[in-house]
Amino acid sequence: MNFPGRGLAAGLAQLAGRLGRAVLPLCDRCQACRGLLPGTGGRLPVCPACAVELAPRLGGFCPRCGAFGTNAEAAPGLCLDCLRLGRVWDGFAFHGRYEGRLRELVLGFKFNSRLGQGRLLAGFLVEAWLRAAARSGDGAMDGGVPDVLVPIPLHPRRLVWRGFNQSLELARFAGRELGCAVCPGALARIRNTTPQSRLPGRERLTNLAGAFVGDPALVSGRHVLLIDDVMTTGATVETAVRSLRRAGAARVDVAVVAR
Ligand SMILES: [Zn+2]
Ligand SMILES: [Zn+2]
Repeated sequence: MNFPGRGLAAGLAQLAGRLGRAVLPLCDRCQACRGLLPGTGGRLPVCPACAVELAPRLGGFCPRCGAFGTNAEAAPGLCLDCLRLGRVWDGFAFHGRYEGRLRELVLGFKFNSRLGQGRLLAGFLVEAWLRAAARSGDGAMDGGVPDVLVPIPLHPRRLVWRGFNQSLELARFAGRELGCAVCPGALARIRNTTPQSRLPGRERLTNLAGAFVGDPALVSGRHVLLIDDVMTTGATVETAVRSLRRAGAARVDVAVVAR
């Protein structure tokens, strides 16, 4: 290549600049804010600012349900509800608090079907799951690989309206990373319920009664990991876990992106 009247270094710099402008917008954008990534080599496809904002919650929460304590630096410890009443599920994992950048990502994925964001969120979920498995020292969670991943289903009518079940897409990405089967048919929604977000906490469980049914042929005797994007009061997850247990699941763990 000929760069008349200029040194080789200047020519190469000019070429690199031209290539950079052509290539960067296609492949090196932060999956969270869509800003250009300053360089490659980071493990996550997010810029440094988003990486800080999207860092996992590592302390100050209950390891059974993800309830937050006041001190984010404190070691995870059981909350009063989990101590007194226990939970219907076995293991539990979540990535972070449902706020700020993480909330934007979840909503962008859910309502605009941004698959790059889905892949990123599923990566968070898998890492949270592996962390919880390592932390628990519980034999069944060791290695972090359940027999089957089951997403929380949408009612068919809502699926038609939205065209996209975010939990199923998360489960697909996570299944690929963990190397385990995804079984969307293991749990069916048999009643179209009022969206939980429109109800006060105490009405959420009764709203969901009988909403799900598990398929014994797919879950009986198996270790199930139930997947959802966000857990708020836990009523949806609790109802789904009960249905999986009724269908004979040997163990049901729960992994969500945000809490
Ligand atoms: Zn960013
Ligand atoms: Zn708890």
